[in-house]
Amino acid sequence: MNIMVCISRVPDTATRILVGPDGKTIDTQGIKYVISPYDEYGIEEGLRLKEKNGGTVTAVTVGAEASTDILRTALAMCVDKAVLIKADIQKDSFFVAKNLAEYAKEVNPDIIFMGRQSVDYDSLQMPSMLAEFLGMPSVSVVSKLTIADGKATAERDIEGGKEIVEASLPCIISCQKGLNEPRYPKLPDIMKAKSKPIEMREPVQTDEKVTVLGMSIPSKQRIGRILSDSDGDIDELVRLLHEESKII
Ligand SMILES: Cc1cc2nc3c(=O)[nH]c(=O)nc-3n(C[C@H](O)[C@H](O)[C@H](O)COP(=O)(O)OP(=O)(O)OC[C@H]3O[C@@H](n4cnc5c(N)ncnc54)[C@H](O)[C@@H]3O)c2cc1C
Repeated sequence: MNIMVCISRVPDTATRILVGPDGKTIDTQGIKYVISPYDEYGIEEGLRLKEKNGGTVTAVTVGAEASTDILRTALAMCVDKAVLIKADIQKDSFFVAKNLAEYAKEVNPDIIFMGRQSVDYDSLQMPSMLAEFLGMPSVSVVSKLTIADGKATAERDIEGGKEIVEASLPCIISCQKGLNEPRYPKLPDIMKAKSKPIEMREPVQTDEKVTVLGMSIPSKQRIGRILSDSDGDIDELVRLLHEESKII
């Protein structure tokens, strides 16, 4: 099977994010980047599918040259091929999806794995956009998957239950937590990945449809106060509700 996995480079969730001086982008100083966690499920599912049916797994990302770091991690997890579609400056989801689509048209994958969302900008647009560009079925938020007889049977998490759906291949699957347990790269594979080739591609230039006007960090939540049940504190509670929160 020809398996394509789209991976996004995101700040580690433990990173403290600051807005840059332009007020429109984040300050990238000192940020540690990782593969978006939902994309790791896509890599793992692709590898399992290959181990069962044979074929190749290709990891693709659209981003700056620094994004080779997540491609090396994917290679260390044992994907066969890594591709960087270069984009140095801020790009919108449309640009990214269009470039992933152009690559997919060239290599004709049987299945494309993506994360349910990229945990940085959280636009949740990519799988549907890519499906539209490629005219492929797309199944989102998949937590269980079986591939047989040219069909994908997927279990999706829905409010209060599960939905089972079927789609013919080629199709796009966006991965949800629970789909599998992504493997940790082994030390020898990490070492081998350092010298594996990464295919660099120039982007297909295309219009962008969305412009970021501004970014801000939410203001700090007010810290709660715990009062005791002593008479003095009950008076204090009434005072706070009256004078500070102005509820009574
Ligand atoms: C160089 C660059 C700079 C950017 N700067 C900004 C910025 O300053 N402000 C801003 O708001 N946005 C920025 N973006 C993000 C961009 O606007 C999109 O939000 C982002 O690429 C992901 O799209 P999404 O949020 O719709 O993804 P989602 O739909 O949330 O992601 C779903 C899945 O799509 C796939 N995917 C997402 N992104 C990529 C990718 N780049 N390559 C391969 N697969 C991917 C992954 O599988 C991911 O799990 C930048 C993107 C690039 C490439």
